[in-house]
Amino acid sequence: MTSPVNVDVKLGINKFNVDEEQPHILVKAQPDARVMELLTKACPAGLYKKQEDGSVRFDYAGCLECGTCRILGMDSALEKWEYPRGTFGIEYRYG
Ligand code: SF4
Repeated sequence: MTSPVNVDVKLGINKFNVDEEQPHILVKAQPDARVMELLTKACPAGLYKKQEDGSVRFDYAGCLECGTCRILGMDSALEKWEYPRGTFGIEYRYG
């Protein structure tokens, strides 16, 4: 019998070097609220978080660079999606 996969534990193995000066993803000033809601469910790292007031907060630290939010939200919710500058971003340590 196999044990269940704990995603948080697996993601915790990765190493992140966050570029504090230049975010690689920027949310628009007035993003499409329906798209932002969708991103709370679609981001595998859970970086789009619903707030008590219904708004969605985003933090690019911990991004897996999977591109899901780029596909779902570019132009409607996001104004920028780029890979992090060299030496920044995720360093996968598992799989
Ligand atoms: S690229 Fe992937 S991991 Fe990074 S914020 Fe977008 S959906 Fe989340």
